[in-house]
Amino acid sequence: MQEDCAAGGCSCSGSDQPSGSLKRLGWQEYFMSVAHLISRRATCTRAHIGAVIVRDNNILSTGYNGAPSGLPHCDETNCRIYRSTHPDGTVEENCVNTIHAEINAIAQAAKHGVSIKDADIYITASPCIHCLKVLINVGIKTIYYDKPYKLEHIDELVRLSGIRLVQVHGDEQ
Ligand SMILES: [Zn+2]
Ligand SMILES: [Zn+2]
Repeated sequence: MQEDCAAGGCSCSGSDQPSGSLKRLGWQEYFMSVAHLISRRATCTRAHIGAVIVRDNNILSTGYNGAPSGLPHCDETNCRIYRSTHPDGTVEENCVNTIHAEINAIAQAAKHGVSIKDADIYITASPCIHCLKVLINVGIKTIYYDKPYKLEHIDELVRLSGIRLVQVHGDEQ
């Protein structure tokens, strides 16, 4: 890359970049890669999840899973696990200390008065059924996820609600 390209604000096509330079990311890959980066702030030792709420290719809010503000995080204390049984009989384990990444992204938007109606969300893993219900009600149109998590638990709700669920991969740094 030429020096003035690196200075920013450059709109060159990239044709003058040396061979072997990184390929330009598409929007979906870009936002999912941001979600992966955000997941590195997560503090629950059971899972590191990141979420980014986007409208018109603009980031509105972000979140990662962790304890509520000011409370001890799982990496300082310990995860406290509770078990729940899904109606299909499968047992799920969750950490009672933490707020999930997508709910934290919604909470950040609410705190700062940012409307997220008709936005999309990028999450490094597909949502649990509890978060999915909230995503439906805040008006999220499309959920982009990277890693599938118990999709069989949310299939019916996705179908009935009409919310779109799309798998997208991003750079895991
Ligand atoms: Zn935890
Ligand atoms: Zn959840």
